[in-house]
Amino acid sequence: MKIVTGIDIATGIDTDTLDELSRTWNGIRKNHRDYRNSEYDRTVLDCAARLAADPGGGTAYVWTLGLAMTASYTARLPGDGVRQGVLAALKAADGALRDRPCDHGSHPYREHLDEYDAYLAGRLRKLAGETAERVEGRPRDEWLCPRNTAGFARIALDIIDPGSVTDVPPRIPADDREAVATLSALLHGYPKPWTDIDEEISSQAEALHDAEPADRAGRLQVVRAVSWYAVSGMVRTKSVLDDLVEAVEQALPHFEDASCSHERHPSLPGSGPDAAELGLMLSSPGGRGVYERIRTEEGWGAPLEKVVCPVLMEEVAEDVLDRLRERRDELFGHRDTSHADAEYLRADGRLEIEKIAERIEYSSLNEQYADDLGLWAARRYERAGERERAVLLLTVYQTMKISYPSPPLPVVRGVLATLRAVAAAPRPDACAHDDEHPTLRYAQFRRGMPHFYAPEEFPPDEERRSAEAWTCPRFAAAVAEECAEGLAGLYEDDEEQGAQHGRSGPDGA
Ligand SMILES: [Zn+2]
Ligand SMILES: [Zn+2]
Ligand SMILES: [Zn+2]
Repeated sequence: MKIVTGIDIATGIDTDTLDELSRTWNGIRKNHRDYRNSEYDRTVLDCAARLAADPGGGTAYVWTLGLAMTASYTARLPGDGVRQGVLAALKAADGALRDRPCDHGSHPYREHLDEYDAYLAGRLRKLAGETAERVEGRPRDEWLCPRNTAGFARIALDIIDPGSVTDVPPRIPADDREAVATLSALLHGYPKPWTDIDEEISSQAEALHDAEPADRAGRLQVVRAVSWYAVSGMVRTKSVLDDLVEAVEQALPHFEDASCSHERHPSLPGSGPDAAELGLMLSSPGGRGVYERIRTEEGWGAPLEKVVCPVLMEEVAEDVLDRLRERRDELFGHRDTSHADAEYLRADGRLEIEKIAERIEYSSLNEQYADDLGLWAARRYERAGERERAVLLLTVYQTMKISYPSPPLPVVRGVLATLRAVAAAPRPDACAHDDEHPTLRYAQFRRGMPHFYAPEEFPPDEERRSAEAWTCPRFAAAVAEECAEGLAGLYEDDEEQGAQHGRSGPDGA
């Protein structure tokens, strides 16, 4: 049971009810990620109905602040009709109140930044419940002035429908703020568990594609940031790179043939998370307003017109495009390994066994050679003799372990073809040698393999295995099976897509 302790003189709303309302509204603000919450919908619609009933009345400030507090929920995914109801009530209040005469030089809404949203509930309670002369350092009558209420109505409109009003402090749209958090985590290498990485990156390409002219430079910078990740080898879906390439290709002509009088341009952030954050900030009128405000207040950063200068953007677009195309080719296109002959074969056609043994040592220094060496070995396998085959198969096995973050599609396809053939070859029920199979690590492998391949040139290691153990078909099959298992499934989707679209595999190209 509610005990009425007092009635606010200005509003006629009892103060307990107001306390409760402000807490409820603030609760919705904190849980704005919730969507289609019917209880929230009822509360917000009730607030909107009360404002709409008397948009120019004495209680308008209460309901307007309520709609401002809950605006981040309304902006997302409320139930049907909520958004329209709220927008109509806010527009009515703004229309009824914005031109009321007053003597104030300024109003509190003009200083209301998004980080102060959290204090609105407390301010409302102070305004309604107490009779203090000042609230948060501003005179009470400025707070209660109809023009101030109109200002908060516009702030709420700007939260729900970014860019739809003027004369409010700039704020970054909620979607972009959320994207900053999502991309920052992803580009730091720790994506949030619910992030669909391919979709998230592709959606940034789409945002560039759909951008308003003034937002295009910011969106391009976001694409620049996600492109580094997309070409790192962490993305195994070719269509993601296609989307990025296409979006930048379409954006480029908008920046071409521009000129400017800037002596030099600022250097854009060199890290993915920073570049994404700046790009998102530059992607909306509100965000650019925030950029300018922070720059003026804190004195960092280049002038806005330089960070979005079309001459600089043309350079950025071309750089991004070159890198994307080059890496798309390396990751998904045909991979030429003919250059490896000169590196890994001697003039007499025998293997440069010492060099190969060195490059398949398990070390991050060897990541740079792994993909090409592995694919080269797999392609050569078919026409090699018995001893060489044993070396080539172990080379494939080792390089696929070293490859980082994982071998690209053409390498996987080429290597899997060889591995599956080896695994499927007939093998005897028992080994034809008495000793164990070779150890595939440490000095036993590093020195053992060269000795096996060219015993006359390389001394044996302490662990010495017979040539029959190295060339044993049962050993080969086990190695091939293990390696194939590690690779199968990496690109399942692409293989299916490739088949659906009737594309020939890159190795058949
Ligand atoms: Zn006023
Ligand atoms: Zn310029
Ligand atoms: Zn064996």
